[in-house]
Amino acid sequence: MTDRPHRSLISRRAFLAGASALPLASLGAARALGQVPASGQVDVVIIGAGAAGIAAARRVAAAGRTYALLEATKRPGGRAVTDTSIFGRPFDLGAFRLYNPLSNSLVEIGDETGAELYSAPDAARLYVNGREARESDYEDFVSSVRRGERAIGAAGDAGRDLPAARVLPDLGPWAASAAFIMGPYTCAKELDQVSSIDFSRAEERDAGAFIRTGVGSFMAGLASPLTVRFETVANSIDLGPRMAQVFTNKGTVSGRMVIVAVPPSIINAGKLRIPYLPTRYRAAVERITLGAYDHIAFEWPGNPLRLREDETVQVKAQDARTFALVARLGGSNIHMLEVGGKLAQQLADGQPQAGAAFLKEALTREFGASAAAKVGKVHHTRWSKEPFALGAWSCALPGAGNLRRAFTEVVNGRLLFAGEHAHETQWGTLHGAWNSGERAATQALRQLGVGSANLAQ
Ligand SMILES: Cc1cc2nc3c(=O)[nH]c(=O)nc-3n(C[C@H](O)[C@H](O)[C@H](O)COP(=O)(O)OP(=O)(O)OC[C@H]3O[C@@H](n4cnc5c(N)ncnc54)[C@H](O)[C@@H]3O)c2cc1C
Repeated sequence: MTDRPHRSLISRRAFLAGASALPLASLGAARALGQVPASGQVDVVIIGAGAAGIAAARRVAAAGRTYALLEATKRPGGRAVTDTSIFGRPFDLGAFRLYNPLSNSLVEIGDETGAELYSAPDAARLYVNGREARESDYEDFVSSVRRGERAIGAAGDAGRDLPAARVLPDLGPWAASAAFIMGPYTCAKELDQVSSIDFSRAEERDAGAFIRTGVGSFMAGLASPLTVRFETVANSIDLGPRMAQVFTNKGTVSGRMVIVAVPPSIINAGKLRIPYLPTRYRAAVERITLGAYDHIAFEWPGNPLRLREDETVQVKAQDARTFALVARLGGSNIHMLEVGGKLAQQLADGQPQAGAAFLKEALTREFGASAAAKVGKVHHTRWSKEPFALGAWSCALPGAGNLRRAFTEVVNGRLLFAGEHAHETQWGTLHGAWNSGERAATQALRQLGVGSANLAQ
């Protein structure tokens, strides 16, 4: 197969090329969307106001149908949330870049609505023992990652659904770094927990674009024309012959269709029960699981490594206790250590200071004690402990690569799934979640008999 989507967060070009910041924004206007009827019955009940739920509600409203958008927390955006209090400037606790700006539907919307988008540097830096790597190290690293990706891709393309780690060739001195890039950094899991089929289907991601005011605030802006029922926790769904009933802490909401836009982890944990869910869908919920990935964000004044703003740094790893560094967010003193997989889970499970302690250990090891000593305030996200996320993003367990498709089907004529986990090639991303929400809404509207002419694109 020649057109297999090729996956990598880095590329030789990305490492070696220079960067240019292209302004992507232009002015546009937001539309006010949808009225929710006072009656308890709507056309579509949407559970979860993350990217997928927001996209779904906007599409249902734009088609002139009624919706109820239920959100367990006090805010929209889910795993896209911008904080401004910790560091006194916008800091994205979850999603922070929009991959593939040229094809990313959210970039298009951002462009139309006047979001302050700007390109990420397209060159990442590589460090070995505290120094920037030599040209030959860059070549060796990139070639190890490429060889690994090709091997996993070949297994996936051949329909062999194996633990991705099992099909890797010997990647030599760069094996630990390549395993980190392909595993925890991309899939939020170690490669022995990753399906070769799921990996091989994932779309390539580039360095992407940032939003000056934060990706989370942008997402909140997209929710602002909608009526969201906050602090409304859906506990269970009853799929009746004519209506779906959603039981919440604030009473029952009925709809002709229901879109479940919460992570599968929530269903798997029994927090949202869907009795009589057919086996195929139950299996998808159980085996398309969320991995762990967190930011350990920190003030690092004085720019000790002389890094450019928003630059990503990879280091030569000796083992799995490794990380990536995102430097000088938006030109500030704030940096992020990116941790994923087992290490991220261990740190999230640990003492409150576990993230800060690892930060010190990692910076000292890679860049020296004096650089590590300059660290100021630290904030460690713990997405696996967030009660309405319970993880970072999804990746199919080995053997479950083909199950993801189940999340794109209509269940019992009444229920649809949406969310990053419900996109076969863009899983793990914000735009994948958004696109899945639009897809689910379109399917729901079709079930309701809305013709193609009335479906907003
Ligand atoms: C640290 C981190 C960094 C990331 N970085 C990037 C990045 O840079 N770029 C990128 O594209 N992606 C990134 N991602 C992934 C991206 O954030 C997710 O793919 C995306 O936000 C998922 O959106 P969603 O709508 O599927 O789910 P969510 O955003 O999780 O939305 C689900 C919503 O449902 C609500 N909910 C849950 N249970 C219930 C219930 N029972 N009743 C009512 N409501 C409920 C939740 O509160 C939440 O608001 C990152 C993720 C993490 C954790």
